[in-house]
Amino acid sequence: MSDISVLGIFVADISFSGPKIPAVGETILGNKYNLGPGGKGCNQAIAIARLGGKVNFISKIGKDAYGELALDTLEKNKINTKNVIRDVNLQTGVAGILVDKNTGKNAINVIVGAPSTLKITEIDNQINVIKNSKIFLTQLEVPKDVTLHCLKIAKENGCLTILNPAPASEISKEFYKYIDYFTPNETEAEFFTGSKITNEKEAKQAADKLINLGIKKIIITLGEKGLFFSDGKEEIYMKASPVKAIDTTGAGDAFNGGLAFGLSKGKSIKECLELANKVAGISTTKLGAGNAMPYLSDI
Ligand code: ADP
Repeated sequence: MSDISVLGIFVADISFSGPKIPAVGETILGNKYNLGPGGKGCNQAIAIARLGGKVNFISKIGKDAYGELALDTLEKNKINTKNVIRDVNLQTGVAGILVDKNTGKNAINVIVGAPSTLKITEIDNQINVIKNSKIFLTQLEVPKDVTLHCLKIAKENGCLTILNPAPASEISKEFYKYIDYFTPNETEAEFFTGSKITNEKEAKQAADKLINLGIKKIIITLGEKGLFFSDGKEEIYMKASPVKAIDTTGAGDAFNGGLAFGLSKGKSIKECLELANKVAGISTTKLGAGNAMPYLSDI
């Protein structure tokens, strides 16, 4: 039995760094190429495993070279892969990332591939693993009906549930009653509340709106400004770790992984937030997404 189950996607991040992001119709000579693990679910599972957490990854991949990369990455990070469905007829997800090496800005095209076809019937074959977990963590990268179904089953079986609502997209009201922790970043919080967030006061107002929708606990991550937590009674504002960030890709994933790990160990909310904040801060000092997740020894 694992303490934490993560439902989400793996994609192979293929990044091309060059003097600029090429314009339509243009060919440029770049200077560096990198292939590594990505996908919010996979990144979050890696973050948990590197902290020493027992984690199941529930997903779907194709039987192709990137599917091998997915399994290899998961196994190397000691993540349970029994619930990763392999479909010979589908492609594993990929993300083509074009990076301007001078500014660090990027343009990304994600092909979700196999997990975009996930169905409730397939997931029901994996459902015992969710039922037996302490924590269920997911995002908005697999089909919504599957996400909702798993959150509901998790909640009904006494798991603590975390929804990292990324990438932001419409969810039905039914979702709210099955979510213990809702962890948007600023832009996502704006999407779900319709209000702009530029400071602590506005973060609090957005959190209040989300609590009024029926979600129990809100953590709005504020990038280099840190985070804001509210459960309607207790409020915690925490500054980000003073690190020299070089690549913030996957910072939110590191944060959610740290949070899930802390909760699985029964830590207080303040301790969980401190841990997640630290894990996320360190992840910004390393290049890449999945590969930037820190180990317990880094903290
Ligand atoms: P996302 O990666 O989903 O956009 P954020 O940008 O809000 O999420 O970052 C998530 C968390 O990562 C923050 O709450 C903070 O803990 C940490 N973080 C992000 N950027 C920095 C930074 N420049 N310095 C230190 N910590 C950071």
